[in-house]
Amino acid sequence: MLRHSHNFQNILGKTMCGIVGYIGSKPACTIIMNGLKRLEYRGYDSAGIATIENGILVISKRAGKVADLEKIINPTELTSTIGIGHTRWATHGEPNDINAHPHSDFSGNITIIHNGIIENYLAIKKKLLLDGYSFKSETDSEVLAVFIGDLYKRTKDLEKAVRLALTEIDGTFGLVVMSVYEPNTLIAARRGSPIVFGIGEDEYIIASDASAIIQHTRQVIYLEDNEMVVINREGYTTKTIDNQTTNGEIHELEFDLKSIEKGGFEHFMLKEIYEQPSTFRDAIRGRLLIEEGNVKLGGLRVVADKLRNAKRLIIIGCGTSWHSGLVGEYMIERLAQIPVEVEYASEFRYRSPIIYPDDVVIAISQSGETADTYAALREAKLKGATVLGIVNVVGSSIARETDAGVYSHAGPEIGVASTKAFTSQLAVLSLLALYLGRLKNVSSIEGKRLAEAISAIPEKIQYILDHSDSIKAIAKEYAHAQNFLYLGRGYNFPVALEGALKLKEISYIHAEGYPAAEMKHGPIALIDDNMPVVFIATKDDVYDKILSGIEEVRARKGKVIAIASEGDTQISKVASHVIYVPNTLPMLMPILSVIPLQLLSYYTAVERGCNVDMPRNLAKSVTVE
Ligand code: GLU
Repeated sequence: MLRHSHNFQNILGKTMCGIVGYIGSKPACTIIMNGLKRLEYRGYDSAGIATIENGILVISKRAGKVADLEKIINPTELTSTIGIGHTRWATHGEPNDINAHPHSDFSGNITIIHNGIIENYLAIKKKLLLDGYSFKSETDSEVLAVFIGDLYKRTKDLEKAVRLALTEIDGTFGLVVMSVYEPNTLIAARRGSPIVFGIGEDEYIIASDASAIIQHTRQVIYLEDNEMVVINREGYTTKTIDNQTTNGEIHELEFDLKSIEKGGFEHFMLKEIYEQPSTFRDAIRGRLLIEEGNVKLGGLRVVADKLRNAKRLIIIGCGTSWHSGLVGEYMIERLAQIPVEVEYASEFRYRSPIIYPDDVVIAISQSGETADTYAALREAKLKGATVLGIVNVVGSSIARETDAGVYSHAGPEIGVASTKAFTSQLAVLSLLALYLGRLKNVSSIEGKRLAEAISAIPEKIQYILDHSDSIKAIAKEYAHAQNFLYLGRGYNFPVALEGALKLKEISYIHAEGYPAAEMKHGPIALIDDNMPVVFIATKDDVYDKILSGIEEVRARKGKVIAIASEGDTQISKVASHVIYVPNTLPMLMPILSVIPLQLLSYYTAVERGCNVDMPRNLAKSVTVE
């Protein structure tokens, strides 16, 4: 595990996709293709490569895997010693050949690879269209390429054109630019999306992740936000995008190749749990208007009136997405005062649901391919509802079938048990609740308080992750339990369901989640000194009632594991184990309280020797009924 190493702090990604650039004395193509393979663990949907062959840009790109790209290139024909390569995880536009990177400017002489999101790409695109430019792809990245090309036309200076373009850009980028105009130069830049610059002997390698570099050199510079590096065959200069020279401190990579196959983590699931500060940030990026106490969700603009006038929202989903829907119900009813129903998609689709024209149906799905959710959505559409999606995978079936929606931008989730996709769904639901609330009764002051609380979540998740050592010990102690009970109330009731689901999915321990007060109506019969009971007991207006529940379990010798608010001095007197989480608004607590439960199930499964990333019988994307 390398998660605490200094180097990994910098390179564990905000975006999931990959960048490799090479300039040196060897054939670039082979080095880039190998580098892209090293980055495959991150997940992606298409790949591409560009080299300069005899003064001409040669670009190959393709939807699918690096192996598919390999089939359409002939390395013996690509002898250039400069090139760039990319694995894309689509955010703007479907994963197809045309949207794959590299993207070029109008002249085809400048080409770029880009990780991240250009938030103001529409405004820039509009201007460029007025100036007579046209576009081949649907991506935000191509807009940046054309923009750089336009600025090059005016300045005849590649570096200057890149700098000017980047100062106009809102959003995030890890970027490499290459051009036949300056065939011995690569320019890389970063804001919010990692770029590592490797300095070898007579060669330089740029990558989004050191795993593509380590084979060639251990000397690296981690670009800072708004920093760039201009590289040619004689050397390199690091500077800010405002043209101020920076000192470009060189670090030594300290890990070995083997340890980084999964970004230094033992399993994808753990890696994804640890990605949550950045994936949450990605889900809210550019969407929170803190000063106005409001939210900007471009994808919902077309349905704003429908939402304002909706008499009822129906959220549909399966599994973890259904749980996030339940949290959404509590959030939206509280803030927007619109009745919300949450339904299992599989039930909804078959029971002739009653739908009124002013109902809005929201489908939640990580993959966007969940068969039941897709079918339920079509049923709702047929009956005249407005249908929205909260989906992670861009261009997926559900995303395409909805009238409007919001992407959750969690990046590819590879572990079968969903973790980061859940918290990203909650991020979007909290934004949606605030947005709806502001359309209705929520004041700008209350909105601001909420917006600030939402923006503070990533560092609180980080805090939990940094203080999670005790969870491993708890997992060890109870790894051989036959059953687990998870109890919570209010906002934390769905978290109890999610905690239980995580445990059964990957450790195969039978676990049940219940609203805490329901315990007396049945499950209490199960409690004896073999039964671990997880209480989500954070400070909110049902805290005292939760404490009574804990006492009742204790009286029957059950083992209480409590998730509690930091600063709670009472709870350790009644619980066998306490895992503290930072304070936040009760509405946002599920985003924090679920993190220890994800870790608890992870460490329990590891302790039991289970195949965490591919638990038996489960599939990542349930595309059958
Ligand atoms: N926003 C860009 C796209 O959709 C880049 C995505 C990525 O980071 O791979 O093409």
